[in-house]
Amino acid sequence: MLIFAFVIAIMVVAIYAHRNRDRRLCRWRTSRAGSKGALIKYTCITCGAEAFRAKGKPDRCLKTLNKPVL
Ligand SMILES: [Zn+2]
Repeated sequence: MLIFAFVIAIMVVAIYAHRNRDRRLCRWRTSRAGSKGALIKYTCITCGAEAFRAKGKPDRCLKTLNKPVL
């Protein structure tokens, strides 16, 4: 029973590390064609997420917004 709990703990840590890694790899690119006035369109090269910002790039990945949380 102790081993079973240990395996679950490793899986939780692995999933958490995986999410952090995805967030770090997120790279936003400015898309001038899709910009609307002061709102500049940013496209994530890594996951394909799109976001509109007036002040700089998004500080995190937004791909999880379109997916249900586990
Ligand atoms: Zn992303």
